[in-house]
Amino acid sequence: MKLTILGCHSATPRTNTNPTSQVLEIKNHMFLIDCGEGTQVELRRNKIKFSRIKHVFVSHLHGDHYYGLIGLVSTFTLLTRETPLHIYGPKGLKEVITLQLKLSDSWTNYPLVFHELTSKESELIYEDDKVEVHTIPLDHRIYTNGFLFKEKENERKLDINAVLNANISVAYYRKLKQGADVENEDGVLIKNETVTTSPIPSKSYAFCSDTVYNETIIPLIKKTTALYHEATFLEKNKDLCKRTKHCTAKQAAIIAKKANVANLILGHFSTRYNGYDDFESEAKQEFDNVFLAKDGKVFEF
Ligand SMILES: [Zn+2]
Repeated sequence: MKLTILGCHSATPRTNTNPTSQVLEIKNHMFLIDCGEGTQVELRRNKIKFSRIKHVFVSHLHGDHYYGLIGLVSTFTLLTRETPLHIYGPKGLKEVITLQLKLSDSWTNYPLVFHELTSKESELIYEDDKVEVHTIPLDHRIYTNGFLFKEKENERKLDINAVLNANISVAYYRKLKQGADVENEDGVLIKNETVTTSPIPSKSYAFCSDTVYNETIIPLIKKTTALYHEATFLEKNKDLCKRTKHCTAKQAAIIAKKANVANLILGHFSTRYNGYDDFESEAKQEFDNVFLAKDGKVFEF
């Protein structure tokens, strides 16, 4: 699982900071998460092939999370894309994007498939044989979802010596990997755990931006491999959280601790700060494995 941060600051772009956007590489997918202004340039800078992006997940309709989307959609047309692009985001996103396409008379030459979200409960929005994506309802000034990306449980591993000794037909190997007991060539039932070992633990990634401190997300993000949680402010500016519905670094770390996640990545920093060391030290008072997002930074879990 590889996460590339394309942008991780809130509100306005500066020469060295971009608004929110990131790419999660998981089980051969390239999921684009939020698409702030500057996303295309950062994709280029990070040498991520545009054609590998087939799914875009938009958390909410504040500009710093999706103003790069129309640019990307248009570029795909110029690149003569044919593969469908699936866009998951709040209701209204389709209207915004299609209005721009309509007024510029530049419809895409590839299918643009919108999956508009309205539910306030967590829902499964994407699934294939390897991975699932669920929404994480967040509490922000407008309708907002985080996203939970989960590898499905991996197959059990064959203990090949044990399998051969047990005289099991090759035709049953697939069933064994799926955890079933099988009969061997002599008609004897072989218990699965005697010829296989546990699967490699599956990984998960939770993206939570933007939100006020909200403990109701904890059951959804429990024990994730990595949690990206917004930390717009430091505790000294905590009063701003209530009005803007954002979090401090400390609050993000408390969520990470209570959810017992393995790693916490902080981001969505307010551009009022010039350095981010204080975010790390503030969060580390609550939780050990804290990392700071940075434009261009790659995390591998
Ligand atoms: Zn916002």
